[in-house]
Amino acid sequence: MTIIRADYVMRMNESFEIITDGAVVFDAHIQAVGKAAAIRDAYPDAEFIDAGEKSVLLPGLVNPHVHLEFSANRTSLAYGDFIRWLRSVIVHRDALSEACKEICMKKVLDTIVQSGTTTIGAVSSFGFDMKPCVHSPLNVVYFNEVLGSNPAMVDALYANFLGRLDESKQYARKSFIPAISVHSPYSTHPMLAKKALEIAREEGMVVSTHFMESPAERAWIDSGTGDFAAFFEDFAPGSKPVNTAQGYLSLFRNVDTLFTHATQATDEELALMQEIGYITHCPVSNRLLHNGRLAVEKVEKLTLGTDGLSSNISLSLWDEMRAALWMHTTLEPNQLAKQLLTAATREGAKSLKREAGVLEVFKDADLIVAQLPETVAHIEDLALQTLLHVKEAKMVFIAGERI
Ligand SMILES: [Zn+2]
Repeated sequence: MTIIRADYVMRMNESFEIITDGAVVFDAHIQAVGKAAAIRDAYPDAEFIDAGEKSVLLPGLVNPHVHLEFSANRTSLAYGDFIRWLRSVIVHRDALSEACKEICMKKVLDTIVQSGTTTIGAVSSFGFDMKPCVHSPLNVVYFNEVLGSNPAMVDALYANFLGRLDESKQYARKSFIPAISVHSPYSTHPMLAKKALEIAREEGMVVSTHFMESPAERAWIDSGTGDFAAFFEDFAPGSKPVNTAQGYLSLFRNVDTLFTHATQATDEELALMQEIGYITHCPVSNRLLHNGRLAVEKVEKLTLGTDGLSSNISLSLWDEMRAALWMHTTLEPNQLAKQLLTAATREGAKSLKREAGVLEVFKDADLIVAQLPETVAHIEDLALQTLLHVKEAKMVFIAGERI
């Protein structure tokens, strides 16, 4: 049993409770949360760690949407427009995946842990990131991706997907959960999506998908026009959209789904996605690809993802939260900071069906300590001050083990 004491304990519960001079006692799970003196009295034999002055103890961060396979990208890919970026991905993808193999991916995963993230949802296109994820101390929900819009290719693509899914199932355990990603409405034939989603329904797997990421996707799905029309003319002449927006969303009914981006979604679609599951906000990616802004003020079931280094410069959720803070200029910053921290902890964990993300008894002891530069004079601003000043975690515990 271990006790950590911190100047501020941010429980991330519904009432946004903050305990000053607080402590958490835990083994693999949290046993109690409260004032430090009371916890020490109740657990006199526990190992005691004092996180020091100006410390903040909170649940480990949850990043449910990251692509590790393009982690080598720094300046190879084109930004500013979604289709321009997509064309550059097609040109550079082999070189990029060649340039970040297992050792490189291990380093990337280590930086994610150091930042204070304790759980990720890794969207995997090829399976190159499977072993590094299996060996990482992180909790990983591993989304095996399926895509392909050509009906003649459905069987071959499905077989390839099943091979990767089956391999990932061999490693299944509490900290490595096989899951499914259906790429997007513009790229995935409904026949393929339905087959994959049937597995998710039967086996209770979490599912991830991209939805309404760009104005080009909106125009293509709604009317078969826009920049995607020219794109498909080059790669698959005569293509027509294979899904409607409503039809695509309906495929996910009764599946625990995370819908990513949704910058171009209508209010009706935002409501339907939240009926089914959660919406994942990736502000840096959306900004770099000039895709517009997710209306976070309309999203209660919000999670926060970094996407991959193919459209970001960092896989730290602290950087991502700061980006979101600057993006949503009409929203009050203290309220927004609380919403973002909640998205990056409690809601992220719930979306991935993890018993974590909140400092409550029996939850997994996924905990981090962050360091503030000074004592916070206005404690009601603690979320905002933490979000502004924290660059990485001072201590990280996953399932009670110090990493
Ligand atoms: Zn993505």
